Amino acid sequence: MTLNSATETREDFGSGVELALAAGNQLFNQRNVSRYADDVQQGVDLVANKISRTEKPFTGITPDGLAPLVEAVDLDSPIEDMPAALAELEELYLRDAVYFHDSKYAAHLNCPVVIPALVGEAILSAVNSSLDTWDQSAGATLIERRLIRWTADRLGLGAAADGVFTSGGSQSNLQALLIARNQAVATLRRDPTLRAARLPSLLGRLRIFTSDVSHFSIRKSASLLGLGYDAVLPVECDANQRMKPAALESAMAASAKRGEVPMAVVATAGTTDFGSFDPLPDLARLSREYRSWLHVDAAYGGGLMTSLRHRHLLDGTGEADSVTVDYHKTFFQPVSSSAVLVRDRTMLNHVTYHADYLNPESAAREDIPNQVDKSLQTTRRFDALKLWLTLRTLGADGIGVLLDEAIDLAHHAGRMFAADPGFELAAPVQLSTLVFRYCPDGLDGDAADAVNLHIRRTLASSGEAMIAGTKSGGRHYLKLTLLNAETTLGDVREILGMIRRAGDDYLAGGTR
Ligand SMILES: *Cc1c(COP(=O)(O)O)cnc(C)c1O
Repeated sequence: MTLNSATETREDFGSGVELALAAGNQLFNQRNVSRYADDVQQGVDLVANKISRTEKPFTGITPDGLAPLVEAVDLDSPIEDMPAALAELEELYLRDAVYFHDSKYAAHLNCPVVIPALVGEAILSAVNSSLDTWDQSAGATLIERRLIRWTADRLGLGAAADGVFTSGGSQSNLQALLIARNQAVATLRRDPTLRAARLPSLLGRLRIFTSDVSHFSIRKSASLLGLGYDAVLPVECDANQRMKPAALESAMAASAKRGEVPMAVVATAGTTDFGSFDPLPDLARLSREYRSWLHVDAAYGGGLMTSLRHRHLLDGTGEADSVTVDYHKTFFQPVSSSAVLVRDRTMLNHVTYHADYLNPESAAREDIPNQVDKSLQTTRRFDALKLWLTLRTLGADGIGVLLDEAIDLAHHAGRMFAADPGFELAAPVQLSTLVFRYCPDGLDGDAADAVNLHIRRTLASSGEAMIAGTKSGGRHYLKLTLLNAETTLGDVREILGMIRRAGDDYLAGGTR
């Protein structure tokens, strides 16, 4: 049977039964497994076909070019079958999507993904376990716990560590800072005059110290936690964009003198733009001295725990009170997959709430593993399965090799750009990003800003290569984020050529 429009079915009373039958055929169950396998296979074939024909990361489509097609779809009139729906989707989405696997995709922290993780993704969405409680997940909960244990061990967080998967680094940072905030408040409440104070009245003195190139989610978290953006005190960096311990020390001393409470020091292990690593041992020492929580944001650098040659960059992470790791960045996992870890598992009690219908206190007493006790989310995907299948097939060393290749490429690329007099690097390559600008003949100031902005726009609209832009010292820079082990120095050389051509055209007044 076919359903051409909602109106038709509404007019024909008898077709209500048919409609229910047809809809029932779409339910994933024992009766419909062959339809499931066929339809999913069609989706897989569509993607496989598309990927095999993709020759550049993007088509350069604009929102104005694409929006009318999406707007024209009548969502109240389903089309007949999966092949037709997939053909429509090809036009609306796949044709113009941005392809991170392409060797000239070098913009943001999006990695190419590994195949075992895609198998995991297919399984986890079909079985559809929810990781809030044992009675909605069973083995999935145990697998997630094993992976948290594995991650904590690799980071050297110790036997009392624990954590939970999250939707991403921003959520991991928020949860870590929520715990740090509640821990600081608990300390304040030891003062008898503050014991009965309401929470909001205790937040005004709390401060967070982080470098001026840390991720914006730290500031956003401060705002969400009721502290306000200005509770985050930015600490100066050295020329390599690493937090200066002396600057942190004087910022903490000045803050203490003003009667403020050092809620947290947030160190970054792999800053988003520069891939720089804050000096963790120094920051750990200062955090202890001022009785502050130490959070390490290793959303980007965390993958180094699998690296065979660069793992030392994470040295000192084991001293943190909490750590953010994004598997969907440097572990080659599909979005989303992240975790927040704490050195002392009892700290997760700060996010525990017992609901009678879901995770009553009696369940905790019986040691039933209900992950919702540790999470900001309730219903939650079994994202851990993707990492599990990756570790069980490719293995941790396999992840590490892919990451090491990308890091090597970035260092080679850095030397290539540094040797070219037309380019200026904002900082040396430290992980797998390259921040630079095109400034031939000492071009400077507003003129350099204009040409680099133009270059980025030109490349994005051609779609031949995707690069990012950022600011450093108030000036516009370009950025390459290299996470693809299959990208070659030849690819980077081609991107450099495109940048130079776009820049020279602009400077010659050609394409304004
Ligand atoms: C990407 C990134 C984040 C945010 O992670 P999402 O997964 O995008 O939410 C946080 N911190 C750093 C250093 C990052 O690079």
